[in-house]
Amino acid sequence: MDNIRLFAKDIHKSFLSQKQEIIALQDVNLDIKEGEFVSLLGPSGCGKSTFLRLVAGLDTCQEGRLELDGKQITEAGRDRGVVFQQYSLLPWLYAWENVAFALKKEASLNKSEKKEKAFHFLKLVGLDGFEHHYPSQMSGGMQQRVAIARALVYKPSLLLMDEPFGALDAQTRKEMQDLLLRVWEEEKCSVLFVTHDVDEAVYLSDRIYVMSARPGKIAKEIPVNLPRPREWDVQLTKEFIEYKREIILELQEKKSTPA
Ligand code: ADP
Ligand code: MG
Repeated sequence: MDNIRLFAKDIHKSFLSQKQEIIALQDVNLDIKEGEFVSLLGPSGCGKSTFLRLVAGLDTCQEGRLELDGKQITEAGRDRGVVFQQYSLLPWLYAWENVAFALKKEASLNKSEKKEKAFHFLKLVGLDGFEHHYPSQMSGGMQQRVAIARALVYKPSLLLMDEPFGALDAQTRKEMQDLLLRVWEEEKCSVLFVTHDVDEAVYLSDRIYVMSARPGKIAKEIPVNLPRPREWDVQLTKEFIEYKREIILELQEKKSTPA
């Protein structure tokens, strides 16, 4: 568990907006170990999505080192699976075809092998029997399950999730958190999970990086030593509430400091 999967050192990223420089990320240092579940937690605009897009290879930074398994990240690749808040499924494809679509460039697999893999991952996310449903025939939670299956189908070593449950109702969100924990335990990939929800971050993570905004920085790193596998009622324990307290105080402190 001690091999470093993702390594970020002194990341600096700014945008030019109406001739003004916006510093989205300043001196961001973090790492994720093999098999580790790590959350980036912070208020809206603190640079969480910007960081995730750098790791996904969808954007580049001005300064800093960003490495996956010891190799510099220069572009998007199959070693990373990405899930966004919007499910972004193709509406004219069945659920299984949406998953198999991620394998379209996989020359070593024939059509029936791709289908088999798609079915396997749909089953993993609890969508057994829904393979031939279109996105429009599925609830938001189900569509997000398809998006998770699609991100996992090529066995990425790092799963990137940007507020994946932000559009779901509270009950579905809880179900999806438990589903994600089960899937993660099964797949043993590393996870970088972006959220602004304190409970969600504590419940899911091995470690949390709390960010502050303007400019986006890591304010605090918090290891979460709650036992696994986790069940929802851990959220009622003294230890869980203590983690929440520590994070909320950190977020409040940063807010009251003028930028
Ligand atoms: P978060 O995901 O934490 O809400 P973002 O990473 O989306 O935050 O944004 C961080 C900061 O960078 C914000 O101030 C945002 O307005 C700015 N920003 C993000 N993307 C761009 C862009 N493409 N052009 C200009 N500014 C951007
Ligand atoms: Mg965001």
